[in-house]
Amino acid sequence: MQNIVVVGASLAGISAAHTLRGLGFDAKLTIVGQETHAPYRRDLLSKQFLRKNMPAEQLTFQRYSEIDADWFLGHSATGLDMARQCVHLSNGYEIPYDGLVVATGARARRWPQPLDNSGPIHYLRALDDALRLQDALSRSSRVTVIGGGFIGNEVAAACRIKGLDVTIVDSRPLPLENELGDRAADTCVDLAACDGVNLRLGTEIRAISTTETGATVLLADNSVVESDIAVLDIGTVPNTEWLGEAALQRSDRILCDESGAVRQAPPGYVAAGDAAFWKSDASPELADQGRWISPERQGRIAARTLLGASHKHEHSFVGPDEFMRSDHYGYPIHSIGITDSREAQFELAEGVDGCRGFAGSFWCDGDTVGAVAIGNWPAFRGLVNKVRSGGDWLVSS
Ligand SMILES: Cc1cc2nc3c(=O)[nH]c(=O)nc-3n(C[C@H](O)[C@H](O)[C@H](O)COP(=O)(O)OP(=O)(O)OC[C@H]3O[C@@H](n4cnc5c(N)ncnc54)[C@H](O)[C@@H]3O)c2cc1C
Repeated sequence: MQNIVVVGASLAGISAAHTLRGLGFDAKLTIVGQETHAPYRRDLLSKQFLRKNMPAEQLTFQRYSEIDADWFLGHSATGLDMARQCVHLSNGYEIPYDGLVVATGARARRWPQPLDNSGPIHYLRALDDALRLQDALSRSSRVTVIGGGFIGNEVAAACRIKGLDVTIVDSRPLPLENELGDRAADTCVDLAACDGVNLRLGTEIRAISTTETGATVLLADNSVVESDIAVLDIGTVPNTEWLGEAALQRSDRILCDESGAVRQAPPGYVAAGDAAFWKSDASPELADQGRWISPERQGRIAARTLLGASHKHEHSFVGPDEFMRSDHYGYPIHSIGITDSREAQFELAEGVDGCRGFAGSFWCDGDTVGAVAIGNWPAFRGLVNKVRSGGDWLVSS
């Protein structure tokens, strides 16, 4: 391979680029990224950045500038010509390739109805969103967060630290139930309430209206929530439109095997991160349910696939040392593996009895298949070891 193009300069793309160079790939490498900023830690936007006003420069990925590549930051890929093997850029350039890494991630899902005035409406996916939100928070006293998922709760927690009045609105009674299981999700709701967040859960939104200075959310029971700004955390949409019809086999994400190879493309095409859907032939039912696999790990594996390097010691699906972390109202949340109470039975860890210091594991067919902890890292570490020995649900490539 003489000419690899990585599209998307964030977690998955930068990880792939590092790995390519680390494996000794010394031919032409091009990295294309839509954002003008240096590649940065997106996960910190709703944490240290909003909470502690961390300077944006401190979000920058360490060592990214050491990657020897032709960088096109601030330019989007607008099309893919698979026959001619080139990527079209927004500046009119055509970049040829013989190996392509697609790592264009996702963007925040927008409110489905048009809003007359988008001023008070905020989303949080990119650094520019976070800068705009940070500025708005400094001039607000009441905030409505629509969506009580991880990011919604992190934003609400940051608002509380700033002394703002916050309401979370979500149509689900337990917003994090699918991600953490019902018991942990319940604890998360308690944490929010104890921190002073107003909760309007299990209530559909009938309409959102805006003026230049505020947002009004009308709920199904005809009550209204008024605020200076509304922050919407209602999911994501993968950035795959630029590929046209090429290689898309599962709704809007790119269908790949467990090595990151794009299923409906010849060798030389890999995809990683939030734009990709990795599905294993060995255990399709597990992959189908969308287990959390770190985009960083996917980038690494995809790069190895592109160069035909060995995958020994790499688990394509959740590895035993790999877990999801969030942070709500001063309590770290960790989870690994299958943590959905519809699929596995939950058991509270020994010596733990709920709320702060919460930890427990999930069982399926006699194996420990997942674990979750809230404010209890020591118990979580112990449970991770059980998950490690549990499993044939870990799939290695
Ligand atoms: C506020 C926030 C907090 C989060 N917290 C956590 C957390 O605590 N734990 C966790 O596990 N995950 C967290 N996540 C999710 C995590 O950040 C993502 O899973 C991860 O960033 C995905 O990496 P990625 O490289 O696949 O895609 P992205 O990070 O989405 O990067 C894709 C990049 O590609 C660029 N791009 C898009 N289209 C094009 C194009 N056509 N041409 C060129 N470039 C393009 C985008 O601008 C972007 O820079 C959080 C996300 C957010 C927004």
